[in-house]
Amino acid sequence: MLNFLLLLIAIPGLIAIAYRGDKVMFASLFAGALTLIALFSDASIVLAILFAIITATTLLFSIPSIRSKFVSAPMLSMVRKILPPISETEQEAIDAGTVWWDGEIFSGKPQWKKLLSAAKPEVNAEEQAFLDGPVNELSRMSDAWKINHDWSIIPDNIVKYVLDNGFLGMIIPKKYGGLEFSAVAQAKVLLKLSNTGSGISYLVGVPNSLGPGELLLKYGTEEQKDYYLPRLANGQEIPCFALTSPTAGSDATSISDTGVVCMGKYEGKEVLGIKLNFSKRYITLAPIATLIGLAFRLQDPDGLIGETEDYGITCALIPRSTKGLEIGRRHLPIGDAFLNGPLKGDGIFVPLDSIIGGQEMAGKGWRMLVNCLSVGRAVTLPTTSAVISKRCTLGTSAYANLRSQFGVNIAQFEGVQKPLARMAGLTYIIEASSIQTIQSIDDGKKPSVPSAILKYHCTEMARQCVIDAMDIHAGKAVIKGPGNYIASLYESVPVAITVEGANILTRNLMIFGQGAIRSHPYVLEEMELAHAEDNQATLTAFDKTLSSHIGYSVGNFTRSFVHGLGFSGSSINENRNCDPYYSDINRLSGVFALAADLSMLSLGAKLKFKENLSARLGDLLSTLYLASMVLKHHKDTGYNEEEWPIVQWSLDHLLHEFQIAFDELTANFPNRAVAFVLNTAAFPIGNRFIAPSDNLEKDVVDVISNDNASRERLTAGLYMELEELNPLAIANQVFLDSLKLKPLQKILKAAIKSGTLPKVSGQALLDVALEKGVIDKEQALQLSQHNSNVMEIINVDDFDESELIRVPFKKLKAKLKKVG
Ligand SMILES: Cc1cc2nc3c(=O)[nH]c(=O)nc-3n(C[C@H](O)[C@H](O)[C@H](O)COP(=O)(O)OP(=O)(O)OC[C@H]3O[C@@H](n4cnc5c(N)ncnc54)[C@H](O)[C@@H]3O)c2cc1C
Repeated sequence: MLNFLLLLIAIPGLIAIAYRGDKVMFASLFAGALTLIALFSDASIVLAILFAIITATTLLFSIPSIRSKFVSAPMLSMVRKILPPISETEQEAIDAGTVWWDGEIFSGKPQWKKLLSAAKPEVNAEEQAFLDGPVNELSRMSDAWKINHDWSIIPDNIVKYVLDNGFLGMIIPKKYGGLEFSAVAQAKVLLKLSNTGSGISYLVGVPNSLGPGELLLKYGTEEQKDYYLPRLANGQEIPCFALTSPTAGSDATSISDTGVVCMGKYEGKEVLGIKLNFSKRYITLAPIATLIGLAFRLQDPDGLIGETEDYGITCALIPRSTKGLEIGRRHLPIGDAFLNGPLKGDGIFVPLDSIIGGQEMAGKGWRMLVNCLSVGRAVTLPTTSAVISKRCTLGTSAYANLRSQFGVNIAQFEGVQKPLARMAGLTYIIEASSIQTIQSIDDGKKPSVPSAILKYHCTEMARQCVIDAMDIHAGKAVIKGPGNYIASLYESVPVAITVEGANILTRNLMIFGQGAIRSHPYVLEEMELAHAEDNQATLTAFDKTLSSHIGYSVGNFTRSFVHGLGFSGSSINENRNCDPYYSDINRLSGVFALAADLSMLSLGAKLKFKENLSARLGDLLSTLYLASMVLKHHKDTGYNEEEWPIVQWSLDHLLHEFQIAFDELTANFPNRAVAFVLNTAAFPIGNRFIAPSDNLEKDVVDVISNDNASRERLTAGLYMELEELNPLAIANQVFLDSLKLKPLQKILKAAIKSGTLPKVSGQALLDVALEKGVIDKEQALQLSQHNSNVMEIINVDDFDESELIRVPFKKLKAKLKKVG
């Protein structure tokens, strides 16, 4: 009985201490007291020995001098041996940006107040006026079909409107003549421009993202800023940025383009400068750019500017007029015609002050780029993903409720409801995660790890949305023409997947690879200490960090296990629907943190090459990050009840994705013992996370099949003026009209059912219904007009052959003969 009683006190007591993870000394005292009780009572000697072992082990970790000698010193020398040296490039990527919500997830116990108290993403009056004025006008002016199909160029009047109205200067401060918009406002501008097609979106998006403007703002000399920024803001200059070359894409640090410091002639004078040899490709806006941001390796073999021979990647500004610059030819990217092309220079000479930031920034180009990318990557492509998903959800929810088969709207079929609900849920996740992260930029953060999460996940979710939209629209989306509001999204989505870090690489290397070091509470410090001088001060510092790290790991292990048993931690009283999800994310953060630690500990430097494991660890982090953003976004609506099915779908989906990634991680983990420990700690009694249910999918479809604030919010921000060039807005209007006419349709259906009206449809039915007085003349007219509007939506474009053949056939024949 006494033995049982002692165990009853010991087990929960030790678990409670381990749960906190930061008070090892308490464990020593507690286990010591139990040892004494066991020794001086009738308890079993086995128990006394067990308690004594626990006391000794915990003492080893709680007394600094013992821990330092027997744990930290051997550990430090082991880490020194296994830790690969960090290259300068990797160090720069690690240093870029700041830690935000990613750090909270890594902590294993996120502090929700930090996220939930963040500002709501909003624009100010001036930004709203720009959205309502020039942005609307630009959308109105742009005929996306003609631009993309007939012309393959952006007409001069549109380029002029963009330049004259300051679209290229959204990030430039007012003192240089720019608009100085918030990051949230920039995203809203790009969102609204979506119906103009990719060409105009990139014309506006790229100069406001990574490029000369941002590089100058952050690193330019005062002279460079004073000269170039006003010219960029007022449209005198169109910028582009050239990094990629044929042999260096994802691995951009291996560019072979060079700049050699030498004397040369510039504007008639002999000056110190750089001779450039480069070959770039895929450069957006290059065909019309007047100012080229160029990345190359700077070399100074004759020591003209210092003692360094190879400075490394450097960024400079090259005017289009520079002698020898080959520019103007175009690539033809998939989907929308957008301005992109190659760029070459063979022995071009530019003065030394072309380097952005001047001579002192020689060789710092990569640092400049990754720093800018840590912010820019969170804006442009996540917003492009929001564009794709919102347009797909709006158009498909309208179409699926207008198109009927077997006398039933296709939105009613379960098979259609699945992708339709998925589209709505993914749209919510994209919108929530992108705009909340963009808001964090306006709050002063530089969310580098979240930006990698968004780059990969938002573009992949957008790709899924457009595939679903294609499937549901079927032939309507396959047949191209001015009335097709889906096909161009489908064709263009690979661009978003490829640029700013191709997706496979981003998922497999970047998200966890960068996060494990940058967002983990202890790893970076431990790595820095492992690379520091080998002395007592280093050991003392390492011992302190390691002891916190061990407490953190023990805490995460215990919390995962306890929560996995069904005991939730501290209760969260935010919202009845959401509270269980807050608890789930708390629990799974502990699981993720434990998985990250065990992976790093058991695989060490090898983890870097286990790309699939790294990708799954990244997925664990990403799904929790995205789910947190969904909760914050829902909170910003005041936990609106109407949109709850969409929010619940999003959360269920993300937690299920977490489960899949976790199961794949443990199934493929090389060390089976570690996999077993991880699995047992995380899911001791099962209670795994399952996919959104069929019933929930139906509820989601109900929300987006009606005219309500939730559907409006989910698809908000698009240009929705009703005009010929906006087929999406037209489809949506016909859908909204159909909802208003539902009561009349019901009357007709009831009359058919009762035998008052025959079983006919279309105009024939309306004629009899009018004749028999079931509906009046005005109602018959309304319904007749609506039926023809619906047919307009269901119909697809057709063309005369002469409209489709861009090179007249006779000319083509002549050309072919010549070749033959
Ligand atoms: C339309 C368009 C516009 C662009 N605009 C610009 C621009 O304005 N300026 C500019 O400088 N560049 C631009 N780019 C270049 C773009 O950034 C590169 O295309 C991108 O970096 C990928 O390089 P790559 O195409 O050579 O692919 P590669 O580097 O050849 O990659 C091929 C595949 O291998 C994967 N991969 C590579 N390394 C790894 C790894 N270690 N682990 C796992 N997978 C890996 C990649 O994810 C990818 O799937 C643009 C590209 C396109 C297509």
